[in-house]
Amino acid sequence: MGNAQKTLPIADKGYCLGVESTADDFGVGIVKFDGEILTNSVDSYIPVEGGIHPREAARHHAEVADSVLCEALTEAKLKPKDITCIAFSMGPGLGPCLRTGATVARALATYLQIPLVGVNHSIAHIEIGKLKTGAVDPVTLYASGGNTMVTAFESKRYRVFGETLDIALGNCLDVFARHAGLKNKRGLPLGAAVEQLALKGKNFISLPYVVKGMDLSLSGLLTAAMAQLQKGSYSLEDVCYSLQEHAFSMVAEITERALAHTEKREILLTGGVAANKRLQSMLEAIAQEHEAVFNVVPQRFATDNGAMIAWAGALAYMQGIVTPVEESYVKLRWRVDRVDVPWMN
Ligand code: AMP
Ligand code: MG
Repeated sequence: MGNAQKTLPIADKGYCLGVESTADDFGVGIVKFDGEILTNSVDSYIPVEGGIHPREAARHHAEVADSVLCEALTEAKLKPKDITCIAFSMGPGLGPCLRTGATVARALATYLQIPLVGVNHSIAHIEIGKLKTGAVDPVTLYASGGNTMVTAFESKRYRVFGETLDIALGNCLDVFARHAGLKNKRGLPLGAAVEQLALKGKNFISLPYVVKGMDLSLSGLLTAAMAQLQKGSYSLEDVCYSLQEHAFSMVAEITERALAHTEKREILLTGGVAANKRLQSMLEAIAQEHEAVFNVVPQRFATDNGAMIAWAGALAYMQGIVTPVEESYVKLRWRVDRVDVPWMN
């Protein structure tokens, strides 16, 4: 992957420890090369106010790295010397957060004298989704706080069939929720708070619906939803409902077109927003219409986590892919379609 060096394929026995740190979550997961997940520890940074501050999140990650790592090894009943390779999220993500995880991973690999594998975060979401649901070759909608894209495997890589041109779906819901004064109550994500209110919405308000070719834009929708709330003609529940209906229809539309074009037989929904039941039901309806199977990744593995990095790292390592420490710099805008995935051929 990326600067990776490829040697001969490696035996399928061993353990990969993965470090995730692209944004607000610091996670450590350990997987066996056969796909068994031994542990998936996480500690999330919760901003006191506003969105994620990259340097504050990175400081959080540095503070909790030691305890999350120890927890993961204890839960997996493994010693550091049992680990075969160390994988880490090399990008895309927030610079300070990525660099903190990379530093932890490099230190571990160097100290233990074992290989390092730089992993593309988006590929990791797809691969753990396939592992957990049994999907083999799906059209994937990956919708999270920082990413929104529809991908499918074609000619050696996960190709991007459509993506957001501005903000991510989760970010759109989060910014709206904060504008409406909603809070992360008892760890409930802001997107989930919008989902609960939307259930009580009765009036459908017409808002901007922006699909351009296979891509979509959410910033105009967000601005219009916030303006509607400010105007006060409709309830918060109505605006939440209308915001969700518009945003989810847009991502569902491009997912459906990718499915029709590729003629794949499976849809995979992943990323933090995958927890949303309304989004799930829209994609399920599309899958049914195209006689495809709908798969949704369990929440613990759909949101950012270390196990997905460990699994994508194991898949790459078994193909002989490693990342020399001196070339393991992070890539803030590392696109999924820049990376070969030889284990899919
Ligand atoms: P991630 O970036 O993958 O860690 O996921 C975090 C994003 O998922 C945030 O934007 C959350 O608001 C969003 N999210 C979590 N649960 C839900 C839900 N039930 N409905 C909509 N969005 C959600
Ligand atoms: Mg997150």
